[in-house]
Amino acid sequence: MRKPKIVILGAGYGGLITTVRLQKLMGANEADIVLINKNDYHYETTWLHEASAGTLHHDRVRYEIRDVIDRSKVEFIQDTALEINKEEKKVILEKGEVSYDYLVVSLGGESETFGIKGLKEYAFGIVNVNSARQLREHIEYQFATYNMEEEKKDERLVIVVGGAGFTGIEFLGELTNRIPELCHEYDVDFHKVRIVCVEAAPMVLPGFDPELVNYAVAQLERKGVEFLIGTAIKECTPDGILVAKGEEEVREIKAGTVVWAAGVRGNSIIEKSGFEAMRGRVKVQPDLRVPGHDDVFIIGDCSLMINEEINRPYPPTAQIAMQQGDVCARNLAALVREKTELEAFKPDIKGTVCSLGEDDAIGVVYGKKLTGGKASFMKKMIDNRALYMVGGASLVMKKGKFNIF
Ligand code: FAD
Ligand code: NAD
Repeated sequence: MRKPKIVILGAGYGGLITTVRLQKLMGANEADIVLINKNDYHYETTWLHEASAGTLHHDRVRYEIRDVIDRSKVEFIQDTALEINKEEKKVILEKGEVSYDYLVVSLGGESETFGIKGLKEYAFGIVNVNSARQLREHIEYQFATYNMEEEKKDERLVIVVGGAGFTGIEFLGELTNRIPELCHEYDVDFHKVRIVCVEAAPMVLPGFDPELVNYAVAQLERKGVEFLIGTAIKECTPDGILVAKGEEEVREIKAGTVVWAAGVRGNSIIEKSGFEAMRGRVKVQPDLRVPGHDDVFIIGDCSLMINEEINRPYPPTAQIAMQQGDVCARNLAALVREKTELEAFKPDIKGTVCSLGEDDAIGVVYGKKLTGGKASFMKKMIDNRALYMVGGASLVMKKGKFNIF
């Protein structure tokens, strides 16, 4: 009898957890499992702000996919998915195509630029290893070039961060630790460097605990960050950005580096493949399948689930992507075993911790507020736990964060 074929697209948090759970749950004769990912490595998206600022080498945030999968049960294909043909049950890849009986889409998110002019062309994002490497190199280039020019252009040393959400704040935490090192390395006066964070909402980390937000703002201001709150980026140009506060007139901030950390959307393949979606995210059923497509699961940043308590979507997080991966694997095993009852996914939100550099953080964990060293310790434990869940103790030993004390 032909074995059902399960294809998993994307080896990020959601896709890898689905794969490693499935390879444990299923016997080799029960199903063919195929994992497809653009690169031969997985990267910890949640550590990209560190690689982007240059406080952690990009090789530290990634590991080989082949090292964590059971190759006797899972076939790994390194390729880029271009489109999903739901009717013919196949995925079009850059180098071919692959058919499926069951599909898991876990392709992650992309930057959401809201159609703001110039962002795609001139701003840097924090989205994958390539973008992190490019941003780090660009900032270094600006420092290296500053002293080469006879007429000094101080705007080279202006770094604008668009968005004071968790990504923007975590990046600022790393950046403010990195700047003194860069100043020393490139003989640049620290006082010439300007770091500006532009946030459209009336507060930093909108919706987060105000006491913790005040702590974060004070810490970052102390390290030199200027916050422009209630101020929106209207345009990005080769010379910097145009911003406006409320009804005020648009003004220019000249900057050598503009980082766009002001929003994510689901992978563009979702819309390209004709799924009904909101900003690239598909509202999935409680069992994580797509309404009307019982053979397609969508998890992670490409999925959308409503938090009924507040009638708003759950934010796209690694925490949720990994939990979905768990349930998705069990539901796939049930389908292969011809069971009709599938498990409903219910997020179990343990808390949120936002780092402010390697030695400081804020967070709420199991309802308890944390700041400083304790929060930072917790953040590193969360990072190590994510490694443990995929690759066990050996992966933690190889890639874990032990700079705890
Ligand atoms: P991802 O983990 O992003 O993985 C997607 C995978 O798909 C990648 O391997 C990618 O290479 C691959 N891929 C993409 N396109 C294709 C294609 N066309 N073909 C083949 N492969 C493809 N969340 C938290 O819960 N806690 C945190 O502390 C946290 N910190 C964050 C810090 C930063 C700087 C950022 C940017 C995000 C952070 N998040 C955090 C959010 C979290 O990273 C995402 O919600 C999570 O990564 C989503 O998981 P995913 O499996 O959907 O996608
Ligand atoms: P976000 O959508 O959470 O925040 C983006 C911020 O940009 C918002 O505060 C928004 O008001 C602001 N913004 C939007 N348009 C703007 C404009 N034109 N000008 C200025 N500001 C503008 O995005 P994010 O921070 O990238 O986070 C994405 C997801 O990843 C979220 O779900 C978040 O919870 C998660 N994440 C979690 C952590 C963590 O838990 N430590 C870290 C990073 C990201």
